[in-house]
Amino acid sequence: MTSIDDLPIRDDLRGTSPYGAPQLDVAVRLNTNENSYPVPDDVVDAIGKAVQAELHDLNRYPDRDAIALRAELASYLGHGLTTANVWAANGSNEVQQQLLQAFGGPGRSALGFGPSYSMHPLLAQGTGTRWIGALRDPDFGLDPGRAVAEIEKHDPDLVFVCSPNNPTGTALDPAVIDAVLASARGMVIVDEAYTEFARPGTPSALTLLPGHPRLVVSRTMSKAFGFAGGRLGYLAADPAVVDAVQLVRLPYHLSAITQAAARAAVVHRDSLLTTVEAIKEQRDRIVATLRARGVRVADSDANFVLFRAGDDQRAAWQAFLDRGVLIRDVGLTGWLRVTAGTESETSAFLSAAEEILS
Ligand code: PMP
Repeated sequence: MTSIDDLPIRDDLRGTSPYGAPQLDVAVRLNTNENSYPVPDDVVDAIGKAVQAELHDLNRYPDRDAIALRAELASYLGHGLTTANVWAANGSNEVQQQLLQAFGGPGRSALGFGPSYSMHPLLAQGTGTRWIGALRDPDFGLDPGRAVAEIEKHDPDLVFVCSPNNPTGTALDPAVIDAVLASARGMVIVDEAYTEFARPGTPSALTLLPGHPRLVVSRTMSKAFGFAGGRLGYLAADPAVVDAVQLVRLPYHLSAITQAAARAAVVHRDSLLTTVEAIKEQRDRIVATLRARGVRVADSDANFVLFRAGDDQRAAWQAFLDRGVLIRDVGLTGWLRVTAGTESETSAFLSAAEEILS
């Protein structure tokens, strides 16, 4: 049988593995930080009509610039942002890949602070960008002085900062981003995939956009909007950044169906985003219940919780799975991550936790 190694593949891809959370058929799936609530009926109807309206025209390419969708996303973001400030792609993974294609690449470097989203280094590698793995503080925060020291030491072309951070849930004060912006020569990408779940008092880095043309705020509809299957991510930045990513994007990268469905979803955002409060409640319930049992838990501003699972997190992960609860081993020794789902999913997780985490 032919293996990858028999092929003339790039040397830097040899021996690497694809990103992949297990997609197992179990009753309670709390491993990929999806929104557990199905799309509500009124939004299903609206998306159905919007997609239907496109079908006769599928012989034509879609709007290459996705203007109507970007306008709707800009109106959702507020902060005086317009269509020119917003760019969209098939998930924020693709947005970030385009940023690396435009601003990274061979001979260039990107720096991030781990533990953080594991796709950042993979996207860097895929685009031939050298990845520099700096570290967060022991409490998973990011001290501005340390962040600045790492940036001054490595002088990267891009800096990735995730807030609220996956997998720890930690939100950063915009003052940290401000310090990073002041010291970085290159682009600063703030991945705010989970920002809608942040507790009050943590403003988005969107507030820093005026006067910072090297700042990019990356967002997604996969989490709070419950639109992971629709694949729609977007960024907000100076219009020059939007011009830059257009140099590398594939023409017609967003299908007419994606654009129509996502636009209908954003128009009906009030209906979709009603689940956010319920999810935050379950997140806070997980934190409080585990802490009451003496389990160490990281503060969370996201729709998931990172908790101590003993010294052997792999065995604990399996023990949860054996009880029909799929959570995530993010490769952080002693820790596991669980997504806050519906009330009954959370109850199933907490019952299993009671047995497993003593
Ligand atoms: N950023 C972070 C921090 C994430 O956790 C995720 C999803 N796991 C993404 C980006 C990518 O999401 P999507 O491509 O679905 O927008």
